[in-house]
Amino acid sequence: MASVKNNYQFEDLLDKHQLKKTAPRLRVLSMMYSKNTATSQPDLESVMNDIDRVTLYRILNVFEEKGIIHKVFDLNGTANYAVCHSDCGANHHHDEHLHFNCTGCKNVYCLNELTLPAITLPAGFRAEDFTLYASGLCPRCDKKNPARA
Ligand SMILES: [Zn+2]
Ligand SMILES: [Zn+2]
Ligand SMILES: [Zn+2]
Repeated sequence: MASVKNNYQFEDLLDKHQLKKTAPRLRVLSMMYSKNTATSQPDLESVMNDIDRVTLYRILNVFEEKGIIHKVFDLNGTANYAVCHSDCGANHHHDEHLHFNCTGCKNVYCLNELTLPAITLPAGFRAEDFTLYASGLCPRCDKKNPARA
C-alpha cells in the first residue's frame, strides 16, 4: 500500500519527473496516495468538481506516462488508476502484482506483495504488460457478508 506523503513530498515527486508543480496535479496525487484502492476518473471528478474533465484526463495520462500511476480495470471495465512502486519510470512500468476486484464495494486493490511469476509466452507473442486479477470480497466487505455469520 502507498505510504502517506505530505504536500512537500508530492512537490518533490513532480520535480523528480520534470513536471510542473500545479495545484490540480498536487491534489490528484494527494487523493490517490490517501487511498488504499485504485481511483477512477469519475471518482476524481466527483471530488474535484472545480477541475475540468480535460485537465483531469491529461493529468492522469501524464502521470501514467511518467510511471507515477498505473491503470487497472474494475469489474465494470472502467479504468482506475493506482499509485506505482518506486521502480516504475517513464514509459516503463513494473506493476506485475495481483489486482483484486471486490464484488462488494467494486474497489480495485493492488496487492503489491503478490508478484506475478515469470510467464513465458508461446513463440511469436510479445507482451507489453502483464496483469492478473482476482475477484471476491475485500476484508471490509467480507466482514459485512451475512454468509459468514
Ligand atoms: Zn507503474
Ligand atoms: Zn470491498
Ligand atoms: Zn496495481
